[in-house]
Amino acid sequence: MTTTKTPVSFRPRELVVAEDGTGHLVGSRCPTCGAHYFPTREVCAGCLTEDLETVPLPRRGTLYTYTVVHQSTPAFETPYVLGYVDLEAPVRVMGQIDVDPEEVAIGMALELKIVPWGTDDEGRTVWGYRFGGVS
Ligand SMILES: [Zn+2]
Repeated sequence: MTTTKTPVSFRPRELVVAEDGTGHLVGSRCPTCGAHYFPTREVCAGCLTEDLETVPLPRRGTLYTYTVVHQSTPAFETPYVLGYVDLEAPVRVMGQIDVDPEEVAIGMALELKIVPWGTDDEGRTVWGYRFGGVS
């Protein structure tokens, strides 16, 4: 079994996880018009520029909209909140919202949280993300 201090991301091209457990999403920025995208793209949908930059996305944002999921696969305990978060880039990202369904509200401040997602074939913890209240 291989041991490493570098945390394993569930999608390394979309989520960077640092050794200290912090992390950020990875997106694209158009150098021509300033548009941001998540996940990364090769062509800007706004101005068709092809040389987009790969950039770390801001960790904080606000909840644009959400739904409360009551039925899901056995891997997900219900109910949970699924929503779109407008990050400060600006860019809109979908994700699970770690807020009580009774307390979730459009416009609330949220930030990226790095959470355990499962284990890989080598028994290492694989990390994913959710959005939670700003600490
Ligand atoms: Zn553009």
